[in-house]
Amino acid sequence: MKAEIITVGDEILYGQTINTNASFIGLALTAIGIKPSWITTVGDEIESLSMAIKQALDRVDCVIMTGGLGPTDDDLTFACIDSVSQMPIFSDCQKRTLNNCIGSAEGVFLSWRGKFLFALPGVPSEMKCMMTDEVIPLLKPYAGNEVIQHRFIHTSGIRESDLAGKILNLMNRDAHVSIAFLPGKTGVTLRLTAHEMSKSKAEQILDEIATDIYSLAGQWIYGENEADLAGIVGQLLTSLRLSVSVAESCTGGLVSDLLTNVPGSSLYFDRSIVTYSNKAKTALLDIPESMIAKHGAVSEEVAKAMARGIRQNASTDYGLSITGIAGPSGGTQKKPVGTVFVGLSSVNGTITKKFTFSKDRLTNKTKFAYSALNMLRIDLLNRMKNAGL
Ligand code: ATP
Ligand code: MG
Repeated sequence: MKAEIITVGDEILYGQTINTNASFIGLALTAIGIKPSWITTVGDEIESLSMAIKQALDRVDCVIMTGGLGPTDDDLTFACIDSVSQMPIFSDCQKRTLNNCIGSAEGVFLSWRGKFLFALPGVPSEMKCMMTDEVIPLLKPYAGNEVIQHRFIHTSGIRESDLAGKILNLMNRDAHVSIAFLPGKTGVTLRLTAHEMSKSKAEQILDEIATDIYSLAGQWIYGENEADLAGIVGQLLTSLRLSVSVAESCTGGLVSDLLTNVPGSSLYFDRSIVTYSNKAKTALLDIPESMIAKHGAVSEEVAKAMARGIRQNASTDYGLSITGIAGPSGGTQKKPVGTVFVGLSSVNGTITKKFTFSKDRLTNKTKFAYSALNMLRIDLLNRMKNAGL
């Protein structure tokens, strides 16, 4: 069954309201094996709304609309449906009212010769309960036998284009699986989608393709589905019985925040010092003023000294440090905005790595923090390998 979602409202077109309704409906349909073919957004205007409904009815079997149901002048959905339903194809159309479990606005359900049209409220909480209680049970018998399963594989430390290059040969290998690249602040996530006749067959196909992805890009993969990088780092630290402390400059405590978002992090996280100013770096981490003067606070040397300093200060197995330029000002030709040095000190010595991003301040901070966590993850994995674990 082909479906189209129509979200109605000028506020969505203007960008003032994020279209979370389309996202919820898309997920709910996909979960019962109906893949939405179109999402259309249309303003509060009778002509375009009627056109959108007609167009949708021409190309899909099931149309789900949200918004514009209320009693005010700008709520036009019912008027449009009434006028469209005068068309001859609707001659044997059945109309039903859909119950609203938390609000007063009722929804509408039209069906005729295997085609369906639903109109739901725009208010997200009302739309959700109507979708769950009314629409999904009505559609389930028509959803067909196809199962759609997704798997998310999260990577860190590799660009989207490089990752695409690595797995190029897998992209169109199997018509039943699609691979999408979802770049985000934390790294690039691969979404694998399998269309199969049973959940177990879909999972088997996903396992096969995931195995191939791991063999081509395993070193950048940190987890699947709900996994998060700080949680994975926490698991590695716990299983190796190692501890970490952090010295942060430009990330202002973000790495420590991410680490401590993980339940049980007190097992391995000791402390964090935010040494934002040069004075703080000298006073709290014993970074010589002369070193900062010579190399600059954003430098390999200072990142190293910060990592060593916090490790000594806290007597932990690892000292992790971050010093960079989040922007928008403070960049130079040699060290542009988005430059960060991450330091990692352990019994094996102190290493640093330079990363360059070129985003806005908050995105840079997030990318810096995740780069630091990923550097720690890679070191922990190497330790595990060396220990034969
Ligand atoms: P009401 O009876 O309150 O007028 P309605 O069914 O007419 O409800 P709208 O007026 O279109 O719905 O939208 C009500 C509110 O719901 C909007 O102000 C907006 O905040 C939210 N909303 C509408 N459409 C969406 C959408 N697609 N995604 C997220 N929120 C939405
Ligand atoms: Mg309204």
